[in-house]
Amino acid sequence: MRDVDVDKPAAREVLVRTVATGVCHSDLHVVDGQSRYSLARPMVLGHEGAGVVEAVGADVATVRPGDHVVACLSGFCGTCEQCLSGHPNLCVTGFVNRAKGEPSRLSQKDGGLTQFAGIGSYAERMLLHENSVVKIDPALPLDRAALVGCGVLTGVGAALRTSGMQAGQTVAVFGCGGVGLAIVQGARIGGASQIIGVDMFDGKLEMAKRVGATHVVNSAKDDPVKAIRSLTGGAGVDHAFEAVGNTTLVRQAIESLAIRGTATIVGVLPPDANIEFPWMAIRPECKVQTSRMGSNRFRTDIPRYLEFYRQGRLLLDEMVTKRGKLGDINEAFRAMKAGEVARTVLTFD
Ligand SMILES: [Zn+2]
Ligand SMILES: [Zn+2]
Repeated sequence: MRDVDVDKPAAREVLVRTVATGVCHSDLHVVDGQSRYSLARPMVLGHEGAGVVEAVGADVATVRPGDHVVACLSGFCGTCEQCLSGHPNLCVTGFVNRAKGEPSRLSQKDGGLTQFAGIGSYAERMLLHENSVVKIDPALPLDRAALVGCGVLTGVGAALRTSGMQAGQTVAVFGCGGVGLAIVQGARIGGASQIIGVDMFDGKLEMAKRVGATHVVNSAKDDPVKAIRSLTGGAGVDHAFEAVGNTTLVRQAIESLAIRGTATIVGVLPPDANIEFPWMAIRPECKVQTSRMGSNRFRTDIPRYLEFYRQGRLLLDEMVTKRGKLGDINEAFRAMKAGEVARTVLTFD
């Protein structure tokens, strides 16, 4: 842990006192050198943060000091073609950091630091563009609200917004970590008739059952494609989700589909990944699509999903399997690698 200087908020920036942050796989990818962000070091990692606004720039219109906010890595410009056509999660301007040539938001004696995804929530303060935050009901617990900024938004949104799932359809979820469990919950909230969780860890499958899976398959013991066919009377599932970013799981998801089924790839695969499958393995009129951050319009989706939480439909307390302080970050990464946790949440005081 190091001390970092934080600049004053520019016109449309918001200074947030971090209260809680989730520990997400994407941060681990950077640490392990598997992300394009790995080259942007030195960097403050963390992107699943929530906190309280301390100060705002002169032109900030959406929040004021004292507001509780969740940060989201789908920061949007509001003016590009994707933003204007209702897809701010696909904003193409990449504006969430300050422009080149401007002073860095975060700095140390020997130069500036990058914020991962324009956020950097593994720090006591986050200096953010106002379009990277959404105000939430101050009665909600920030340590659980933080999770909705990335993993829960991604998973619930993949089921409810990207997939096109209809009530009564059947679902399989490959990978029951934080995002996969959120997909299971999105499918349950959306009225899926059957939700099959697939993972190689029994602990995660237990979690999947607790949050809504009707069946589970341990892929270390059973062939998941065969198991899914058998559980669906031979038909396959209407929707299969891949939540890890693994080529084998993508192929299995495609092979598990029913006629006119849809595979939604939520995990992020390595850039050079190739997915191969025999032509006969794909049923007629199947679709394969990706989901970027749950096709979110986070300014409306995050408050909606938090309302599901308040109503007891979205289970967030159950998603937090480990807690700690900032100093526990390396232990959180270790537990994540070992498949021990759905989510670690770090809190600040
Ligand atoms: Zn994330
Ligand atoms: Zn945009």
